[in-house]
Amino acid sequence: MAGRYGPEICYNLPPKIMCGIVGYVGRAEAAPILLDGLRRLEYRGYDSAGVAIVNGKQIETRKCAGRIANLAKLMTEKPPSGQYGISHTRWATHGKVTDENAHPHFDQSGKIALVHNGVIENYAALREQLEREGGHQFTSDTDTEVLAHLIGSIYEQIDGADSKARLVNATRAALKQVIGTYGIALVHSDIKEFMIGARRGSPLVLGVGKDENFLASDVSAIVAHTRDAVYLNDFDIVAVSRDKFEISSVAGESGNYQISKVEFGAEDVSKGDFPHYMLKEIFEQPNSVRDAMRGRLNTEECTAKLGGLNMTAGELRDVSRVVLTGCGTALHAALVGEYLIEQLANIPVEVEYASEFRHRNTPMSGNTLVFAISQSGETADTLGALRESQRKGFRTLGICNNVASTIARESDGGVYMHAGPEIGVAATKSFTSQVTILALIGLLLGRMRHLSSSQGSRIIEALEALPEQIESVLKLSEQIRSIAKKYVEAEGMLFFGRQFNFPVALEGALKMKEITYLFAEGHPSAELKHGIIALVRPDLPSIFVAPDDAVFCKNRNNIEQVKARKGPIIVLTSGDGAKQLKGIANDIIEIPRAPEFATPVLTAIPLQLFAYHVAVELGCDVDKPRNLAKSVTVE
Ligand code: GLU
Repeated sequence: MAGRYGPEICYNLPPKIMCGIVGYVGRAEAAPILLDGLRRLEYRGYDSAGVAIVNGKQIETRKCAGRIANLAKLMTEKPPSGQYGISHTRWATHGKVTDENAHPHFDQSGKIALVHNGVIENYAALREQLEREGGHQFTSDTDTEVLAHLIGSIYEQIDGADSKARLVNATRAALKQVIGTYGIALVHSDIKEFMIGARRGSPLVLGVGKDENFLASDVSAIVAHTRDAVYLNDFDIVAVSRDKFEISSVAGESGNYQISKVEFGAEDVSKGDFPHYMLKEIFEQPNSVRDAMRGRLNTEECTAKLGGLNMTAGELRDVSRVVLTGCGTALHAALVGEYLIEQLANIPVEVEYASEFRHRNTPMSGNTLVFAISQSGETADTLGALRESQRKGFRTLGICNNVASTIARESDGGVYMHAGPEIGVAATKSFTSQVTILALIGLLLGRMRHLSSSQGSRIIEALEALPEQIESVLKLSEQIRSIAKKYVEAEGMLFFGRQFNFPVALEGALKMKEITYLFAEGHPSAELKHGIIALVRPDLPSIFVAPDDAVFCKNRNNIEQVKARKGPIIVLTSGDGAKQLKGIANDIIEIPRAPEFATPVLTAIPLQLFAYHVAVELGCDVDKPRNLAKSVTVE
């Protein structure tokens, strides 16, 4: 599929989404297909699961709080039978995690079953109205049940001989009343071999099969059955039968669509020989970083080629300010990008939390270029920031992994990461790919300004050396594991770094928090003396990211300050650093030497491994950390 950023190799990667939907209509038994699909979405993070399968007369529902294994048990005890149905993994936003609140939810008649990802913001008013005017009774606390009732109540009120069209019209009318986000799938017990899907703000894909069709919030749930997919747009409604489908919009227009070939198979979303997705993805980084650069280095002109930006040389030269926006790991990559672009291109850069950017009045000048950074391309806050920036008339580009994602489609251009599916909830390879791409952007903008060709050439050399250097960093995994073992008793950890490696300290702390649940903070090393040093004590390790660079001596001072207060110290260093820190640091991890701007790609990886090994030692569920979901598609 040709991506929005140019006809490059596209993987149509699974977006990182919270919760999930799988729907099926065909000739096979729906139950195993739906359950298998849910399992493939399992890593996303969820707290309840359920299915609704139509057996010809009525809807059979199984649902419960907890893992998919619980649902599977219910389904084995009392197998539901039927050739079409819908299923869901829930990540609760409205109402506790209980069996009653698990999806599917029903309308008042009990004939319409609905699953939903997202948030119906005006659910309280709608619920009150349904109760008051129609005497509706609700059995859950969810916003989703209100939508099911609303569709059902409209369905009862409107006429139409064709019950399928009537249900589509009722869904359309209900969605017009809804404020909020949704990816939905629904079935009606009286309407044979038929389901409806719709989306706004939550991804939904139609899988096109032979005599069978699928709905899924993520193509990886159905890729074992079909590689033909239609990525639905916001406000699309799709009416799905076994042998056909019809797409229209909430406004009632018939929709344009394109069937895309999914470029990866079920095997690409497996763990392979690795015990966890996270470890597999850490070890994929030599390739993912290589792929982020592939075809994008122009060694002749000593610059980068980024055709997907869709900008002329003149427009790029006119850029006077850059805003980088994202959330979580992407925000940390953006912070590295700030150092990179300012250093390489001498353009002022600001990094904004996407969630803040969209709600505040950031002064913007005419030639500001905005980048929205999101692995999934579906992160709600980042998408909101992109739309806000476009609303104000600024060119907004995307840096994302998922070619079919909303950010990729709505941005004015951008750069794909080509990192392959990232399934581990804790982002790893996406960070190094994003940093690599930001270095390419810095190089491109720099070469249009003050960077000489020999400087450009040295930058390219350093970038080209990275994949091999990453290979040697990965060899440190065993050493890092033994260090991790020493610190599993720690109650928390502090991470420090300067300049390019300050954001790496933030990212190291985030990884630690996400998968070990230890309290962890990242700071610029120099901030120690401004307050954080009060925390230093013998049972609180400090991890310093201190490669042999221009600020090494400054970092060493801070390391000494911690040492003087008996804080255990782990240092990540390079070149001469190890020699200088011998006898001061308790543990030293040596990485290959690289020019400063390239070090974050190398220093981030040992911290990913460190968090991973600590988590494994602590017995944590690395791929499914508590309370977290792979991507935050709610605000
Ligand atoms: N808002 C709905 C609920 O709380 C759906 C949440 C989800 O996306 O799973 O049940």
